[in-house]
Amino acid sequence: MATLTRRDFIKWTGVGAGTLALSELGFDLAQAYSVRQTLRIAGATQAHSVCPYCAVGCSLLAYTRKEADGTTRLLQIEGDPDSPVNEGRLCPKGATAMDLAISTRRVERPLYRAPGASTWQTVSWDYVLDKIAQNIKATRDRTFVTTDAAGNIVNRCEGMAFAGGAAFSSEEGYFATKVMRGLGAVYLEQQARV
Ligand code: SF4
Repeated sequence: MATLTRRDFIKWTGVGAGTLALSELGFDLAQAYSVRQTLRIAGATQAHSVCPYCAVGCSLLAYTRKEADGTTRLLQIEGDPDSPVNEGRLCPKGATAMDLAISTRRVERPLYRAPGASTWQTVSWDYVLDKIAQNIKATRDRTFVTTDAAGNIVNRCEGMAFAGGAAFSSEEGYFATKVMRGLGAVYLEQQARV
């Protein structure tokens, strides 16, 4: 007769108790195993990427599949477990990276709300860029200060501030800072991840 060691006893009673508990909770283990076999990323193409949201630079894995009509469908984005940066984890913001591509709520056209208006209207990119340029020029002309109260030469624009986005690359951040300093803006801030 085979001997049952203390380790075997704990192992088998543990598995048995766990199986029983899951069954009692309504889990169908056979079904769970079959779901595992048919993961929606099974056979998908895996690509490496980096979260665009902040300078931590967590690594992502993106799974895509070619559809019958020739289009490529994004199936899943998740943290890369092999990355020494995030070891498979993502913060809540990074965990929503897939929505950047597929969210039906994503705003794809510029929206403009006129002063005093309560509704937004869809406008063209040309309209928005002209509007921003006009407002920057008017604000700078109106609020540029050449000397402070003590008579020191300051040459600064006090009526404008700039906030950079977390998805900025280093180069974009450098460029934005140069442009804003060139305009005389002194209130610059960079949003990291919130
Ligand atoms: S936003 Fe979050 S997931 Fe993305 S790089 Fe930063 S810490 Fe990582």
